[in-house]
Amino acid sequence: MIIKERNALINSLISYAREKLYLASTDEVYLTNLLLSKFHLQNYNVSEEKENNLDDLITSIELVALKENLVKEEDLELFSTAIMGMLTPLPSVVQTKFFDLLHHVSSEEACRFLYALQVNNHYIKLSRIKLNLFWKANFPNNYLEITINLSKPEKDNKATAKLANDVSIKYPKCILCYENLGYAGRVDSPPRQNIRLVDFKLAGEDWFMQYSPYQYYEEHVVVIHKKHVNMKIDHSTFIKLCDFVDLFPHYFVGSNASLPIVGGSILNHEHFQGGKHMMPVFASATKYEFVKKGYEDCQIAYLNWYNSCLRIISPNRDKIISFASEILHIWNNYQDEQIGLIAHTQQQHNAITPIVRKVDQYYHLYLILRNNRTNEEYPDGIFHAHQPFHNIKKESIGLIEAMGLFILPGRLKKQFAAVQEILMGRVTYLDAIITNPDLIVHKNMIAELLSEYGASNSEQRVELILEKYINDTCKQILECTAIFKNTSIGDSHLRTFLSAVGLEIIGG
Ligand SMILES: [Zn+2]
Repeated sequence: MIIKERNALINSLISYAREKLYLASTDEVYLTNLLLSKFHLQNYNVSEEKENNLDDLITSIELVALKENLVKEEDLELFSTAIMGMLTPLPSVVQTKFFDLLHHVSSEEACRFLYALQVNNHYIKLSRIKLNLFWKANFPNNYLEITINLSKPEKDNKATAKLANDVSIKYPKCILCYENLGYAGRVDSPPRQNIRLVDFKLAGEDWFMQYSPYQYYEEHVVVIHKKHVNMKIDHSTFIKLCDFVDLFPHYFVGSNASLPIVGGSILNHEHFQGGKHMMPVFASATKYEFVKKGYEDCQIAYLNWYNSCLRIISPNRDKIISFASEILHIWNNYQDEQIGLIAHTQQQHNAITPIVRKVDQYYHLYLILRNNRTNEEYPDGIFHAHQPFHNIKKESIGLIEAMGLFILPGRLKKQFAAVQEILMGRVTYLDAIITNPDLIVHKNMIAELLSEYGASNSEQRVELILEKYINDTCKQILECTAIFKNTSIGDSHLRTFLSAVGLEIIGG
Protein backbone atom coordinates (compact mmCIF):
# COMPACT_ATOMS: atom_id res chain seq x y z
CA MET A 1 0.00 0.00 0.00
CA ILE A 2 1.37 3.42 -0.94
CA ILE A 3 1.05 6.04 1.80
CA LYS A 4 0.53 9.57 0.59
CA GLU A 5 0.50 11.55 3.78
CA ARG A 6 3.36 12.50 6.16
CA ASN A 7 1.87 11.58 9.54
CA ALA A 8 0.85 8.12 8.40
CA LEU A 9 4.19 7.62 6.73
CA ILE A 10 6.11 8.42 9.92
CA ASN A 11 3.84 6.01 11.78
CA SER A 12 4.69 3.29 9.32
CA LEU A 13 8.42 4.01 9.41
CA ILE A 14 8.49 3.77 13.20
CA SER A 15 6.54 0.54 13.19
CA TYR A 16 8.79 -0.89 10.46
CA ALA A 17 11.95 0.07 12.37
CA ARG A 18 10.54 -1.55 15.49
CA GLU A 19 9.74 -4.81 13.72
CA LYS A 20 12.63 -5.11 11.27
CA LEU A 21 15.45 -2.82 12.33
CA TYR A 22 15.79 -3.33 16.09
CA LEU A 23 14.40 0.07 17.11
CA ALA A 24 14.52 0.15 20.93
CA SER A 25 11.47 1.57 22.67
CA THR A 26 13.77 4.09 24.42
CA ASP A 27 14.57 5.59 21.02
CA GLU A 28 11.05 5.74 19.56
CA VAL A 29 10.12 9.30 20.52
CA TYR A 30 13.56 10.54 19.61
CA LEU A 31 13.43 8.94 16.15
CA THR A 32 9.87 10.16 15.57
CA ASN A 33 11.01 13.72 16.19
CA LEU A 34 13.98 13.35 13.84
CA LEU A 35 11.60 12.14 11.13
CA LEU A 36 9.17 15.01 11.78
CA SER A 37 11.97 17.46 11.17
CA LYS A 38 13.12 15.64 8.03
CA PHE A 39 9.56 15.72 6.62
CA HIS A 40 8.96 19.34 7.76
CA LEU A 41 6.10 18.41 10.03
CA GLN A 42 5.42 19.97 13.44
CA ASN A 43 2.36 18.10 14.60
CA TYR A 44 2.07 14.39 15.13
CA ASN A 45 -0.41 11.84 16.32
CA VAL A 46 -0.02 8.10 16.53
CA SER A 47 -2.38 6.49 14.05
CA GLU A 48 -3.26 2.93 13.17
CA GLU A 49 -2.45 3.24 9.49
CA LYS A 50 0.79 1.48 8.69
CA GLU A 51 2.54 -0.39 5.96
CA ASN A 52 5.30 -2.95 6.44
CA ASN A 53 6.16 -3.78 2.84
CA LEU A 54 9.64 -2.39 2.16
CA ASP A 55 9.18 -1.57 -1.53
CA ASP A 56 5.92 0.23 -0.80
CA LEU A 57 7.55 2.14 2.05
CA ILE A 58 10.38 3.35 -0.17
CA THR A 59 7.92 4.41 -2.87
CA SER A 60 5.86 6.20 -0.20
CA ILE A 61 8.91 8.07 1.13
CA GLU A 62 9.76 9.23 -2.36
CA LEU A 63 6.22 10.24 -3.31
CA VAL A 64 5.67 12.19 -0.10
CA ALA A 65 9.06 13.89 -0.48
CA LEU A 66 8.18 14.97 -4.02
CA LYS A 67 4.69 16.10 -3.09
CA GLU A 68 5.99 18.21 -0.20
CA ASN A 69 8.87 19.61 -2.30
CA LEU A 70 11.45 18.23 0.12
CA VAL A 71 13.81 17.13 -2.62
CA LYS A 72 14.49 17.41 -6.35
CA GLU A 73 13.45 14.45 -8.45
CA GLU A 74 17.03 13.42 -9.31
CA ASP A 75 17.91 13.27 -5.60
CA LEU A 76 15.06 11.00 -4.52
CA GLU A 77 17.32 8.04 -3.87
CA LEU A 78 19.58 10.20 -1.70
CA PHE A 79 16.53 11.19 0.32
CA SER A 80 15.09 7.71 0.84
CA THR A 81 18.54 6.34 1.70
CA ALA A 82 18.96 9.08 4.32
CA ILE A 83 15.62 8.10 5.87
CA MET A 84 16.53 4.41 5.91
CA GLY A 85 19.86 5.36 7.51
CA MET A 86 17.99 7.15 10.31
CA LEU A 87 15.88 4.04 10.93
CA THR A 88 18.95 1.79 11.16
CA PRO A 89 20.79 1.33 14.48
CA LEU A 90 24.07 3.24 14.84
CA PRO A 91 27.20 1.46 13.59
CA SER A 92 28.35 0.79 17.15
CA VAL A 93 25.07 -0.95 18.06
CA VAL A 94 25.26 -3.13 14.94
CA GLN A 95 28.86 -4.12 15.62
CA THR A 96 28.16 -4.98 19.25
CA LYS A 97 25.26 -7.23 18.26
CA PHE A 98 27.29 -8.79 15.42
CA PHE A 99 30.23 -9.74 17.65
CA ASP A 100 27.94 -10.87 20.39
CA LEU A 101 26.41 -13.37 17.94
CA LEU A 102 29.82 -14.28 16.52
CA HIS A 103 31.31 -15.08 19.93
CA HIS A 104 28.26 -16.63 21.61
CA VAL A 105 26.30 -18.24 18.79
CA SER A 106 28.20 -18.65 15.50
CA SER A 107 29.78 -16.65 12.73
CA GLU A 108 27.01 -17.87 10.44
CA GLU A 109 24.37 -16.38 12.72
CA ALA A 110 26.31 -13.11 13.01
CA CYS A 111 26.54 -12.82 9.22
CA ARG A 112 22.88 -13.72 8.82
CA PHE A 113 22.00 -10.88 11.20
CA LEU A 114 24.04 -8.26 9.32
CA TYR A 115 22.85 -9.48 5.93
CA ALA A 116 19.18 -9.39 6.95
CA LEU A 117 19.64 -5.90 8.38
CA GLN A 118 21.09 -4.73 5.06
CA VAL A 119 18.20 -6.22 3.11
CA ASN A 120 15.60 -4.83 5.52
CA ASN A 121 17.05 -1.33 5.45
CA HIS A 122 17.14 -1.31 1.62
CA TYR A 123 20.93 -1.13 1.33
CA ILE A 124 20.71 -4.44 -0.59
CA LYS A 125 17.79 -3.84 -2.93
CA LEU A 126 16.58 -7.41 -3.18
CA SER A 127 13.57 -6.75 -5.39
CA ARG A 128 15.89 -5.15 -7.98
CA ILE A 129 18.41 -7.98 -7.69
CA LYS A 130 15.67 -10.52 -8.33
CA LEU A 131 15.29 -9.02 -11.83
CA ASN A 132 18.73 -10.37 -12.76
CA LEU A 133 18.77 -13.37 -15.06
CA PHE A 134 20.66 -16.39 -13.79
CA TRP A 135 21.32 -19.83 -15.24
CA LYS A 136 23.70 -22.73 -15.09
CA ALA A 137 25.68 -23.76 -18.18
CA ASN A 138 26.46 -27.47 -18.11
CA PHE A 139 29.45 -28.90 -19.95
CA PRO A 140 30.82 -32.46 -19.96
CA ASN A 141 33.36 -31.92 -17.15
CA ASN A 142 32.34 -28.74 -15.40
CA TYR A 143 29.64 -26.13 -15.22
CA LEU A 144 29.60 -22.36 -15.29
CA GLU A 145 27.08 -19.93 -13.85
CA ILE A 146 25.90 -16.97 -15.84
CA THR A 147 24.02 -13.92 -14.75
CA ILE A 148 22.86 -10.92 -16.70
CA ASN A 149 22.95 -8.03 -14.32
CA LEU A 150 19.93 -5.78 -14.61
CA SER A 151 20.07 -4.26 -11.15
CA LYS A 152 23.18 -2.11 -11.40
CA PRO A 153 21.75 1.24 -12.54
CA GLU A 154 23.04 2.62 -15.84
CA LYS A 155 24.84 5.94 -15.39
CA ASP A 156 22.87 8.77 -16.91
CA ASN A 157 24.61 11.37 -19.05
CA LYS A 158 23.33 14.34 -17.06
CA ALA A 159 24.98 12.98 -13.91
CA THR A 160 28.24 12.26 -15.73
CA ALA A 161 28.33 15.81 -17.15
CA LYS A 162 27.76 17.27 -13.69
CA LEU A 163 30.62 15.13 -12.40
CA ALA A 164 32.99 16.44 -15.08
CA ASN A 165 32.73 19.92 -13.55
CA ASP A 166 33.50 18.69 -10.10
CA VAL A 167 36.77 16.80 -9.95
CA SER A 168 38.06 18.46 -6.80
CA ILE A 169 36.18 16.35 -4.25
CA LYS A 170 38.48 13.76 -2.67
CA TYR A 171 36.32 12.59 0.22
CA PRO A 172 35.81 9.69 0.50
CA LYS A 173 38.85 8.86 -1.64
CA CYS A 174 37.02 5.98 -3.33
CA ILE A 175 33.84 3.95 -3.17
CA LEU A 176 35.44 1.36 -0.85
CA CYS A 177 36.84 3.78 1.75
CA TYR A 178 35.72 3.47 5.35
CA GLU A 179 34.65 7.13 5.20
CA ASN A 180 31.61 6.08 3.14
CA LEU A 181 29.96 4.89 6.35
CA GLY A 182 27.02 7.28 6.71
CA TYR A 183 28.07 9.46 3.75
CA ALA A 184 25.20 11.27 2.08
CA GLY A 185 26.49 10.62 -1.43
CA ARG A 186 27.07 12.79 -4.46
CA VAL A 187 26.86 12.38 -8.23
CA ASP A 188 29.79 9.97 -8.50
CA SER A 189 29.47 8.38 -5.09
CA PRO A 190 26.38 6.54 -3.82
CA PRO A 191 24.60 7.51 -0.60
CA ARG A 192 25.69 5.25 2.24
CA GLN A 193 23.73 6.35 5.32
CA ASN A 194 22.26 2.87 5.54
CA ILE A 195 25.45 0.83 5.13
CA ARG A 196 26.72 -0.99 8.22
CA LEU A 197 30.01 -2.80 8.44
CA VAL A 198 32.11 -4.76 10.90
CA ASP A 199 35.74 -4.17 11.87
CA PHE A 200 38.34 -6.84 12.54
CA LYS A 201 42.03 -7.52 12.16
CA LEU A 202 43.60 -9.48 9.33
CA ALA A 203 47.32 -10.23 9.69
CA GLY A 204 47.43 -7.63 12.46
CA GLU A 205 46.04 -4.86 10.20
CA ASP A 206 42.71 -3.06 10.50
CA TRP A 207 40.18 -4.34 7.96
CA PHE A 208 36.40 -4.35 7.73
CA MET A 209 33.66 -6.23 5.92
CA GLN A 210 30.46 -5.06 4.27
CA TYR A 211 27.93 -6.66 1.96
CA SER A 212 27.95 -5.82 -1.73
CA PRO A 213 24.79 -3.90 -2.67
CA TYR A 214 24.83 -5.63 -6.09
CA GLN A 215 24.99 -9.15 -4.70
CA TYR A 216 26.28 -11.30 -7.55
CA TYR A 217 25.75 -14.41 -5.37
CA GLU A 218 24.54 -15.37 -1.87
CA GLU A 219 25.85 -13.20 0.98
CA HIS A 220 28.36 -11.48 -1.29
CA VAL A 221 30.82 -9.66 0.97
CA VAL A 222 33.57 -7.17 0.26
CA VAL A 223 36.47 -7.30 2.71
CA ILE A 224 38.33 -4.01 2.76
CA HIS A 225 41.54 -2.52 4.18
CA LYS A 226 40.70 0.31 6.56
CA LYS A 227 43.26 2.52 4.81
CA HIS A 228 43.12 3.58 1.18
CA VAL A 229 46.16 1.55 0.03
CA ASN A 230 46.83 -0.12 -3.34
CA MET A 231 45.91 -3.71 -4.13
CA LYS A 232 48.86 -6.06 -3.79
CA ILE A 233 49.40 -9.80 -3.63
CA ASP A 234 52.27 -10.93 -1.43
CA HIS A 235 53.03 -13.27 1.46
CA SER A 236 50.78 -11.26 3.80
CA THR A 237 47.79 -11.67 1.43
CA PHE A 238 47.71 -15.40 2.18
CA ILE A 239 47.86 -14.76 5.93
CA LYS A 240 44.95 -12.32 5.60
CA LEU A 241 42.88 -14.77 3.55
CA CYS A 242 43.46 -17.54 6.11
CA ASP A 243 42.67 -15.16 9.00
CA PHE A 244 39.40 -14.31 7.25
CA VAL A 245 38.25 -17.92 6.84
CA ASP A 246 39.25 -18.63 10.44
CA LEU A 247 36.81 -15.87 11.47
CA PHE A 248 34.16 -16.80 8.89
CA PRO A 249 34.64 -20.49 8.02
CA HIS A 250 31.36 -20.63 6.09
CA TYR A 251 32.55 -18.02 3.55
CA PHE A 252 35.13 -18.34 0.79
CA VAL A 253 37.38 -15.33 0.21
CA GLY A 254 39.56 -14.38 -2.72
CA SER A 255 41.54 -11.51 -4.06
CA ASN A 256 41.64 -10.11 -7.52
CA ALA A 257 45.08 -10.01 -9.06
CA SER A 258 46.61 -6.59 -8.53
CA LEU A 259 47.04 -5.76 -12.23
CA PRO A 260 44.63 -4.32 -14.83
CA ILE A 261 42.91 -6.67 -17.36
CA VAL A 262 43.27 -9.64 -15.00
CA GLY A 263 42.12 -7.76 -11.90
CA GLY A 264 38.98 -6.04 -10.75
CA SER A 265 37.88 -2.49 -11.44
CA ILE A 266 39.29 -1.00 -8.25
CA LEU A 267 43.06 -1.36 -7.98
CA ASN A 268 43.79 1.57 -5.68
CA HIS A 269 42.11 0.23 -2.56
CA GLU A 270 43.12 -3.18 -1.24
CA HIS A 271 40.10 -5.45 -0.89
CA PHE A 272 38.88 -9.04 -1.21
CA GLN A 273 35.53 -10.54 -2.15
CA GLY A 274 33.87 -13.47 -0.51
CA GLY A 275 30.59 -15.04 0.40
CA LYS A 276 28.58 -18.13 0.91
CA HIS A 277 28.28 -19.27 -2.67
CA MET A 278 29.64 -22.57 -3.97
CA MET A 279 31.65 -21.32 -6.93
CA PRO A 280 31.84 -23.65 -9.97
CA VAL A 281 35.62 -24.04 -9.69
CA PHE A 282 35.15 -25.59 -6.23
CA ALA A 283 33.40 -28.53 -7.89
CA SER A 284 36.06 -29.02 -10.54
CA ALA A 285 37.75 -32.42 -10.82
CA THR A 286 41.52 -32.71 -10.75
CA LYS A 287 43.67 -33.30 -13.78
CA TYR A 288 46.97 -34.05 -12.05
CA GLU A 289 47.85 -34.75 -8.45
CA PHE A 290 51.27 -34.15 -7.02
CA VAL A 291 53.66 -34.86 -4.25
CA LYS A 292 56.05 -32.20 -3.09
CA LYS A 293 58.92 -32.45 -0.65
CA GLY A 294 58.08 -30.74 2.63
CA TYR A 295 54.33 -30.88 1.88
CA GLU A 296 53.61 -34.48 2.82
CA ASP A 297 50.39 -33.58 4.69
CA CYS A 298 48.99 -31.67 1.71
CA GLN A 299 46.94 -32.76 -1.29
CA ILE A 300 48.19 -30.75 -4.23
CA ALA A 301 46.44 -30.80 -7.60
CA TYR A 302 46.12 -29.05 -10.93
CA LEU A 303 42.45 -28.75 -11.78
CA ASN A 304 40.62 -29.90 -14.85
CA TRP A 305 39.32 -26.33 -15.12
CA TYR A 306 39.18 -23.84 -17.98
CA ASN A 307 41.96 -21.56 -16.78
CA SER A 308 45.23 -22.55 -15.11
CA CYS A 309 44.46 -23.36 -11.51
CA LEU A 310 46.42 -25.13 -8.76
CA ARG A 311 44.68 -26.33 -5.60
CA ILE A 312 46.14 -27.38 -2.29
CA ILE A 313 44.18 -28.88 0.59
CA SER A 314 45.58 -29.20 4.08
CA PRO A 315 44.56 -28.86 7.72
CA ASN A 316 47.91 -27.13 8.20
CA ARG A 317 47.50 -23.37 7.78
CA ASP A 318 51.23 -22.64 7.79
CA LYS A 319 51.76 -25.09 4.95
CA ILE A 320 48.99 -23.45 2.89
CA ILE A 321 50.58 -20.03 3.37
CA SER A 322 54.11 -21.17 2.62
CA PHE A 323 53.00 -23.12 -0.48
CA ALA A 324 51.17 -20.05 -1.81
CA SER A 325 54.16 -17.80 -1.16
CA GLU A 326 56.53 -20.19 -2.84
CA ILE A 327 54.38 -20.50 -5.98
CA LEU A 328 53.82 -16.72 -6.09
CA HIS A 329 57.54 -16.07 -5.84
CA ILE A 330 58.35 -18.44 -8.72
CA TRP A 331 55.36 -17.41 -10.82
CA ASN A 332 56.14 -13.70 -10.63
CA ASN A 333 59.31 -14.37 -12.65
CA TYR A 334 58.32 -17.44 -14.65
CA GLN A 335 58.69 -17.14 -18.44
CA ASP A 336 57.90 -19.35 -21.41
CA GLU A 337 58.19 -17.27 -24.55
CA GLN A 338 56.98 -20.09 -26.82
CA ILE A 339 53.51 -19.69 -25.36
CA GLY A 340 53.73 -15.89 -25.15
CA LEU A 341 54.33 -15.88 -21.41
CA ILE A 342 56.61 -12.99 -20.48
CA ALA A 343 56.65 -12.25 -16.76
CA HIS A 344 57.56 -8.56 -17.02
CA THR A 345 58.56 -5.95 -19.54
CA GLN A 346 58.84 -2.42 -18.13
CA GLN A 347 56.02 -3.55 -15.85
CA GLN A 348 54.92 -6.72 -14.14
CA HIS A 349 52.64 -9.01 -16.22
CA ASN A 350 52.45 -12.26 -14.26
CA ALA A 351 49.94 -12.29 -11.45
CA ILE A 352 48.02 -14.68 -9.25
CA THR A 353 44.36 -14.77 -8.22
CA PRO A 354 44.22 -16.54 -4.84
CA ILE A 355 41.10 -17.96 -3.18
CA VAL A 356 40.76 -19.69 0.19
CA ARG A 357 37.85 -21.55 1.75
CA LYS A 358 37.48 -23.98 4.59
CA VAL A 359 35.78 -27.35 4.48
CA ASP A 360 35.55 -28.84 7.96
CA GLN A 361 39.01 -28.24 9.37
CA TYR A 362 40.72 -28.26 5.97
CA TYR A 363 41.93 -25.16 4.17
CA HIS A 364 41.40 -25.23 0.41
CA LEU A 365 43.63 -22.80 -1.43
CA TYR A 366 43.21 -22.07 -5.15
CA LEU A 367 45.89 -20.26 -7.11
CA ILE A 368 44.85 -19.13 -10.57
CA LEU A 369 47.81 -18.20 -12.74
CA ARG A 370 47.32 -15.01 -14.74
CA ASN A 371 49.20 -12.74 -17.15
CA ASN A 372 48.05 -9.38 -18.50
CA ARG A 373 50.50 -8.69 -21.34
CA THR A 374 49.16 -7.29 -24.60
CA ASN A 375 50.72 -7.39 -28.08
CA GLU A 376 49.84 -6.29 -31.59
CA GLU A 377 47.78 -9.38 -32.31
CA TYR A 378 45.90 -9.11 -28.98
CA PRO A 379 45.78 -5.43 -28.00
CA ASP A 380 43.26 -6.19 -25.23
CA GLY A 381 45.36 -8.96 -23.73
CA ILE A 382 46.97 -12.20 -24.90
CA PHE A 383 45.33 -14.07 -22.01
CA HIS A 384 42.10 -12.07 -22.09
CA ALA A 385 38.76 -12.49 -23.87
CA HIS A 386 39.70 -12.32 -27.54
CA GLN A 387 38.03 -9.92 -29.96
CA PRO A 388 35.35 -12.29 -31.37
CA PHE A 389 33.89 -12.61 -27.84
CA HIS A 390 33.77 -8.91 -26.99
CA ASN A 391 30.11 -8.59 -27.95
CA ILE A 392 29.37 -10.71 -24.87
CA LYS A 393 32.05 -9.47 -22.50
CA LYS A 394 34.98 -7.14 -22.97
CA GLU A 395 35.69 -6.07 -19.37
CA SER A 396 38.42 -7.61 -17.22
CA ILE A 397 37.98 -11.23 -16.31
CA GLY A 398 38.46 -10.87 -12.59
CA LEU A 399 38.19 -13.07 -9.56
CA ILE A 400 34.50 -13.95 -9.85
CA GLU A 401 34.59 -14.94 -13.53
CA ALA A 402 37.85 -16.83 -13.00
CA MET A 403 35.95 -18.98 -10.49
CA GLY A 404 33.26 -19.68 -13.10
CA LEU A 405 30.53 -17.14 -12.37
CA PHE A 406 30.03 -14.73 -15.27
CA ILE A 407 28.48 -11.32 -14.70
CA LEU A 408 27.28 -10.12 -18.08
CA PRO A 409 26.13 -6.58 -18.82
CA GLY A 410 22.43 -5.68 -18.68
CA ARG A 411 22.47 -4.37 -22.29
CA LEU A 412 22.49 -8.00 -23.49
CA LYS A 413 18.88 -8.54 -22.49
CA LYS A 414 17.53 -5.87 -24.80
CA GLN A 415 19.99 -6.62 -27.59
CA PHE A 416 19.25 -10.33 -27.49
CA ALA A 417 15.52 -9.68 -27.72
CA ALA A 418 16.27 -7.94 -31.03
CA VAL A 419 18.53 -10.79 -32.17
CA GLN A 420 15.71 -13.17 -31.36
CA GLU A 421 13.41 -11.34 -33.79
CA ILE A 422 16.02 -11.71 -36.54
CA LEU A 423 16.44 -15.45 -35.98
CA MET A 424 12.67 -15.85 -36.06
CA GLY A 425 12.52 -14.05 -39.41
CA ARG A 426 10.38 -11.19 -38.11
CA VAL A 427 12.91 -8.56 -39.12
CA THR A 428 16.16 -8.51 -41.10
CA TYR A 429 19.48 -7.53 -39.58
CA LEU A 430 19.66 -4.43 -41.79
CA ASP A 431 16.25 -3.23 -40.65
CA ALA A 432 16.97 -4.09 -37.03
CA ILE A 433 20.12 -1.95 -36.80
CA ILE A 434 18.17 1.11 -37.96
CA THR A 435 16.04 1.03 -34.81
CA ASN A 436 18.71 -0.58 -32.66
CA PRO A 437 22.15 0.70 -33.77
CA ASP A 438 24.03 -0.92 -30.89
CA LEU A 439 23.20 -4.33 -32.42
CA ILE A 440 26.21 -3.77 -34.66
CA VAL A 441 28.48 -5.31 -32.00
CA HIS A 442 26.68 -8.60 -32.65
CA LYS A 443 27.04 -8.48 -36.44
CA ASN A 444 29.37 -11.48 -36.73
CA MET A 445 27.44 -13.50 -34.21
CA ILE A 446 24.18 -12.89 -36.06
CA ALA A 447 25.72 -13.87 -39.40
CA GLU A 448 27.14 -17.03 -37.85
CA LEU A 449 23.84 -17.99 -36.21
CA LEU A 450 21.84 -17.27 -39.37
CA SER A 451 24.08 -19.49 -41.45
CA GLU A 452 23.89 -22.29 -38.90
CA TYR A 453 20.23 -22.13 -37.89
CA GLY A 454 18.47 -20.06 -40.57
CA ALA A 455 15.82 -17.39 -39.98
CA SER A 456 12.68 -19.36 -39.31
CA ASN A 457 13.18 -20.64 -35.77
CA SER A 458 10.47 -20.87 -33.14
CA GLU A 459 10.71 -18.64 -30.10
CA GLN A 460 11.62 -21.59 -27.87
CA ARG A 461 14.35 -22.74 -30.21
CA VAL A 462 15.83 -19.26 -30.48
CA GLU A 463 16.07 -19.02 -26.73
CA LEU A 464 18.02 -22.27 -26.65
CA ILE A 465 20.27 -21.16 -29.50
CA LEU A 466 21.15 -17.89 -27.79
CA GLU A 467 21.67 -19.46 -24.39
CA LYS A 468 24.01 -22.03 -25.91
CA TYR A 469 25.88 -19.26 -27.71
CA ILE A 470 26.41 -17.34 -24.46
CA ASN A 471 27.41 -20.50 -22.59
CA ASP A 472 29.99 -21.49 -25.20
CA THR A 473 31.34 -17.96 -25.36
CA CYS A 474 31.84 -17.74 -21.60
CA LYS A 475 33.69 -21.04 -21.63
CA GLN A 476 35.88 -19.87 -24.50
CA ILE A 477 36.60 -16.58 -22.69
CA LEU A 478 37.87 -18.50 -19.67
CA GLU A 479 39.97 -20.67 -21.98
CA CYS A 480 41.45 -17.48 -23.46
CA THR A 481 42.65 -16.56 -19.98
CA ALA A 482 44.38 -19.94 -19.48
CA ILE A 483 48.16 -19.67 -19.58
CA PHE A 484 48.52 -23.40 -20.31
CA LYS A 485 45.95 -24.38 -22.92
CA ASN A 486 44.15 -27.67 -22.63
CA THR A 487 46.02 -29.21 -25.62
CA SER A 488 48.98 -31.53 -25.84
CA ILE A 489 51.29 -28.56 -26.51
CA GLY A 490 49.78 -26.62 -23.58
CA ASP A 491 50.23 -29.68 -21.45
CA SER A 492 53.91 -30.06 -22.21
CA HIS A 493 54.51 -26.41 -21.25
CA LEU A 494 52.49 -26.97 -18.09
CA ARG A 495 54.69 -29.93 -17.17
CA THR A 496 57.79 -27.77 -17.56
CA PHE A 497 56.29 -25.24 -15.16
CA LEU A 498 55.27 -27.94 -12.69
CA SER A 499 58.77 -29.30 -12.49
CA ALA A 500 60.10 -25.76 -12.03
CA VAL A 501 57.98 -25.51 -8.87
CA GLY A 502 59.06 -28.96 -7.71
CA LEU A 503 55.73 -30.68 -8.26
CA GLU A 504 56.04 -34.33 -9.12
CA ILE A 505 52.97 -35.82 -10.81
CA ILE A 506 51.63 -38.87 -9.02
CA GLY A 507 51.69 -41.73 -11.50
CA GLY A 508 53.02 -39.39 -14.19
ZN1 LIG B 1 39.49 3.98 -0.87
